[in-house]
Order: sequence, then structure tokens, then C-alpha cells
Amino acid sequence: MLYIQFIVFTAGTLLAFFWMVVILGHRRQRNFERILFFLCLALFFFYGASLLEFNAQAYFAAPPADLELFAWFFLCVGLTLIPALLLHLQIEYAAIRNIFHRRAAKLSWLVAAYAPLLYFVPHLVPLLRRSTASFDFLTPANELGLAYKIWLVASLVAAAAWQWFFAASAPDQQQKRFHRSLVYALPIAVIGIGAIQLAADFNADFHFGVSIFLAAVPLVPLGALVRNVQRFNFLQIGRQRNLIYAVFGTFLALLYLALVRRVSLWLAKGIPPESTAAILLFLPVAFFEPLQRLLRATLRQAAVSEMDRTQRLMVPIQEIARLGDLAKLQAFSEPWMREQLQLAEVHLVLYQNDENLPPNTATASESLANFEHFPIQHAGRSIGELRVRSHGAMLSGETLAGLEYLSEQLPGALDLCRLIDEKLRLERELAERERLAALGQMAASISHNLKNPLGSIKTILQVQMENGEVPASVRAETNMVLQEINRLSATLSQLLQFSRPTFLGEPGATGCDALQVVDEVLRVLHHEALRRGITVRVSAPMLPFRVAAVSDTVHDIVSNLALNALEATPAGGSLDVRLDTVPGFCKIIVEDDGPGIPQVLQSRVLQPFFTTKTQGTGLGLTIVDRRVAEAGGALEIRSPSKNDHGTRCVVTLPHPP
Ligand code: ADP
Ligand code: MG
Repeated sequence: MLYIQFIVFTAGTLLAFFWMVVILGHRRQRNFERILFFLCLALFFFYGASLLEFNAQAYFAAPPADLELFAWFFLCVGLTLIPALLLHLQIEYAAIRNIFHRRAAKLSWLVAAYAPLLYFVPHLVPLLRRSTASFDFLTPANELGLAYKIWLVASLVAAAAWQWFFAASAPDQQQKRFHRSLVYALPIAVIGIGAIQLAADFNADFHFGVSIFLAAVPLVPLGALVRNVQRFNFLQIGRQRNLIYAVFGTFLALLYLALVRRVSLWLAKGIPPESTAAILLFLPVAFFEPLQRLLRATLRQAAVSEMDRTQRLMVPIQEIARLGDLAKLQAFSEPWMREQLQLAEVHLVLYQNDENLPPNTATASESLANFEHFPIQHAGRSIGELRVRSHGAMLSGETLAGLEYLSEQLPGALDLCRLIDEKLRLERELAERERLAALGQMAASISHNLKNPLGSIKTILQVQMENGEVPASVRAETNMVLQEINRLSATLSQLLQFSRPTFLGEPGATGCDALQVVDEVLRVLHHEALRRGITVRVSAPMLPFRVAAVSDTVHDIVSNLALNALEATPAGGSLDVRLDTVPGFCKIIVEDDGPGIPQVLQSRVLQPFFTTKTQGTGLGLTIVDRRVAEAGGALEIRSPSKNDHGTRCVVTLPHPP
């Protein structure tokens, strides 16, 4: 019985202390945690003082009066506060659960919880000064009087009622079970108190047993709380497994120490107590080796499963990384890590290239202060970080280790993701290029085969037109046919230009004269411009205008740009072609009076086959872009170039060396 009493007091002291430490480590305490802290403090006073007195009685024949007074003081303070704090705790929990709809309801409950203190505190003061000899440490509630017992019973009943209510409205099964266990534990305490009161002068042993039992009752919720918090982060306090191990270890050590003292006192007649103590304290060391061997398999398994657990964290992340989509990887891994490590928030922040600041610096720095940061490094360079916020308490050792493991492994996954992304992109590009090459070949063969018959038809028609006997109506129709043939052959030559990959011919030491090519092109387009009623202007400095490209290249560039300009410009407008030189380069500028290219289309006009015209090929600008690039020049398209209309294409080509 004495041992049970000792165990109960020790366990109570440690558990209450444990909860105080946990709550102090809790970052964002709510009122609930604060009240739980004070309730644990009161319990700690009660258990600690009882343990002190227990040890004193075991050690001294007559314990020193000061010591007893000290223990008594804290015992009384603890006991007096327990009923009020117990009720207050229920009220705060109800507040968390949003049960009070009006502030007044909560306030009146609070008043009810604390009002009896007004009566008890004045009673407590004389009690504290009483001679210590007659104190009943075993059932201290007896010393505080019947009124205290009634108060305690009342608050226990009220708490049980609240718990019943919480159990009924609990959101999940585990919380329901927890509250229900309290619904049973609290009335049992009430029955215990009643039993002591009614059987006051009955049987000393019965008295003793019941009082120990009563002292053990608070251990139930405190212990259940530890278990629940550890298993499913109840009350969002966070896992504190290391602290739990520490409490358990201390508890065992204290029990063993008590045993050592008992045994050494018992053997004191024959052996000096110090020697017995020394031997008994060394004994566990001797057992350590075999014990370790016994435990090795278990320890190993625990370590392996712990390692597995962390490694398993990475497996799905790696799998997603293999898809080569960074956004998907991010979208998956954040909630995954949060759930697996039971954290409040996890952000995977990736820095933009060469920029060591997080991209969203707009986040208030004070809210950032709540986060812990785990840098993600690749090849000695910070490429991002994990920003983590726990549910309140500081991060436990395991979570920390898990996060460190993740931040070590993530660069690999990110790299993999990037590589695969790059590979997919290259593959797509290659496929596109192959497609275009095949298309080019086909275009070349078709246009080649069409060009010759078309040429023959055109010649025959032209010869027929020279015959003066042809009636006027047939002449007009033949003219239309000839125009259509011209259009067709223009399209065919565009197709040919597109399929002809590069002019690999050397431009020669002197290149070609751009002005001459421009003149040629405009002479060909002269009729077209006349037909459309467009004025063509050419301006060039009186300089030799040599560019480092073969004349075919410049021809393709100028003809396509000029054709687009003519097609865009309405009748009465003008087409300007200017030549200009800057050191090392020539500029060919083609500007029209057309409507301009809408902003949304500007990024697409260079794509092959993109056209807005019913009879366009969509190849003109593609050919220009390609030729300019081949010649080592640059193409710039500005639209609108004249206030609200017009398009200006500027081609910059290098001078020959
Ligand atoms: P196509 O002339 O066969 O349509 P291009 O590659 O030459 O093909 O031009 C692509 C598109 O770019 C045209 O359909 C047209 O919408 C736009 N574009 C090109 N040049 C001009 C211009 N000078 N003015 C307005 N739009 C133009
Ligand atoms: Mg065109």
C-alpha cells in the first residue's frame, strides 16, 4: 500500500510537471492552455507536497516542523484552487468549441466557479497557522472541512456534466472516447469522497485505500491526454515524444531510488547503507549490457521503422518529380508533408534564378517570424527553403529530423523534376522540328512539280493575248486567270523559300548590295502596288549598301516584308522602304499604313503557318525570321508604329567583313 501511494504521488508530480513544461513550450497559448497550466500547477502542489511529506515521514521519526509547514502550505493552496480551476477549464474548453453564444453566459459560469473562493480563502489562513502535529496528510480534504468537500464534489459533478456534453458533441470518435472516460472518472471520485466522509470513523485501512484511490483519479485524464496528444495531436499541442520518454524515465529512476533506499535501510544492521546503495546503483550498470542485447532487436526495429517512416515521406514526392512538372510537385508535396508530419503549415519556397530573396517578400515579416526555415541547397547554393509552422508547440525532435531529411532529399527531387522537364521540352522541340522538316520536303516537291506546268500555262495565255482577234470579254477573263496564276506562283515560291533550309553559299568577301535587291523587289511589286492604289517610297543614303548575305537571302526578306505591307495597307496609303547604316550594320526598314498587328497576336506572327488571311500561307514572317537569323542579323517588329496604326519592321544585317 505504501508503495502504491508512493507511485501515485510520484506519477502525479511528474505528470503535472510534464504538462506545465509542455504548455510553457507552447508558442501560441490560448486561455485554455493557460488555465490547464494553473490546474497542473495546483495538482503539482498537491502531489509534490504529498510526496515531500511521504518521504519526510519515511525518513524522519519526527519530521521537522518547518518542512511539514512548507508541505502543508502548498498542499492547502493546491487543493483550494483545484475545484475552481477544474470548472474554469471546462468553461474555456466550451469557449473553444464555440458553445457560448453570449459573453454573459461565460461570465456567469466563471463567477460561479470562483465565488466559493471568497468563502474559502479566509478559512484557509487560520488553517495554515495551525500546529502541524495533527495534520492529516493522507486525506487532507478532511482538514479543509465539510464545506470544501461539498464544493469539490459540486465542481466534480459539474465537470462531469460538461464532459458528458462535450462527449455528445465531439467531432470525432477519439475525442468522444476521451470525454467519455472523464464522464466515468469524475463521478468515481465523487463516490470516493462520499465514502470517506460517511465511513469517517469506520476502518483506517479502508480510509487509506480510498484516499490513495482518490489521489490516483486525476492521473487518468492527465495520462489519457498524453496518449491522445501523442497519437493524434489532440488539442493541437504537437507531439512531444521525447519529453514523454523523459518523464517516464525519471519516473522509473525515482522508483528505483526509493527501492534502493528501502533496501539499504533494511540491511543497515549488517552493511553500511552507503555500500548497499552503491552496489544497488551499480547493479543496473551490470545489467545494462545483457539488457541492451535483449533490447537490441527491438531498438533496431524501432530505429529502422523510424527511418523507414522518414524515407517513405520521400517516395511519393520522387514519383511526382518524375512527371517533370514543378508546379505539380509543389502542389503535391506541401499538403503531403503537412499531413505526414502533422504540422499547421508547410511551404516549399523556391527562389527564382540567381535571386537569393524569396519571391514573395510581400509576406509580412512578423508572420514569417512564426515559421521555421529549412534551407534547400543544391551544389552549395541555396535554391529554396521549407517554411514550416507547427500547431503551437515547438517542433519535436522527430519532426525536426524528418524536416531536415526532407530538405536534404528535396534538391535531388527538384533536380530530377527539372531534368525531366528539360528532356520533355527537348523531345517536343525535336518532334516539332522533324515535323517541319517533313512538311518542308513535301512543300518543296509539290511546289516544284506545280511550278513548271504553271509556267507553261502562263506563257500560252500570254501568247494568246497577243492575238488581236481575241474578243474583249475573253481578254478580261484571261487577265483574271493570269492574275490568279501570279498569286499561285507567289504562294508556291513562298513554299519553296520556306522549304529551302539555308543559303549555305558563301556571301563572298563583298556580300551583296541591299539597295539593288530592294529595287529589284519593288520593280516586281510595282504592278501590285498600282493595282491597290498604294504609293511606294524608297529612301536610301548615297552610299554603297553592302550586307554580308547572298542576294537571295535579302530578296526573301524584303519581298515578304513588302508583300505583307502591301496586303495590310488600304488604298490611298503608302509603303515606305528606308535603308540606313549604323556602325557595322545596315538597316532595312519597311513601314506601312495598315491597321497594325494586334498586341495579342504579336508573339505568334513568327510561327510557321500562323495567318489571319483567308488566302495566306502564314510562312512570310517565318521565312524572314529564319533568313535574318541565318545572316546573323536581327528582326524587330513594332506595331503600331504611327500613333494608332502602321507596322514597322526593322531588319538589321551586318556589313561584310
Ligand atoms: P501571311 O502573310 O501568309 O498571313 P505572314 O507570316 O507573312 O503570313 O504573316 C503572319 C500574320 O502576321 C499575317 O496573317 C498578319 O496577320 C500579320 N502581319 C504580318 N505583317 C503585317 C503587317 N505589315 N500589318 C499587319 N499585320 C501583319
Ligand atoms: Mg505574308
